[in-house]
Amino acid sequence: MLQCTAVTRIPLDDTLTALITLPGEHPTPTPYALCELGEHPTPTDHAALLRPADNPDRPALWLFWTGTGTPDTPTHRIDTAPWCPATLHHLTNNATLPCSLFNRHPTGHSWDITDPLGDLIAGTLTTDDPQGRPHP
Ligand SMILES: [Zn+2]
Ligand SMILES: [Zn+2]
Repeated sequence: MLQCTAVTRIPLDDTLTALITLPGEHPTPTPYALCELGEHPTPTDHAALLRPADNPDRPALWLFWTGTGTPDTPTHRIDTAPWCPATLHHLTNNATLPCSLFNRHPTGHSWDITDPLGDLIAGTLTTDDPQGRPHP
């Protein structure tokens, strides 16, 4: 499953207000957020993690927005949501990977979602083959 490609401008005032209500450090949010869900139909809210709680067991702060209406005026909602309880268990090395989405998220779990842009960037950074690159 590919990652949803929705992007939104973060409502900075609302985001900063929500962030200062949480204990701990307050990193400056980026001006844009990418939906972290897998591809989903339009009526489903997009979702981006704003900040995990200091305690990993506590609900994290998420930005939800609708894709309906004009692109410049999406409806944003900032809310805390508990983590998805699902975990992926690797039998070969006995490691567990918790789902990095919120509870009752509408699409597949985070390990089923691939980000083609992230893979593309990582592929560019990890290639050691200078063939095909222009030389200065
Ligand atoms: Zn989305
Ligand atoms: Zn999940």
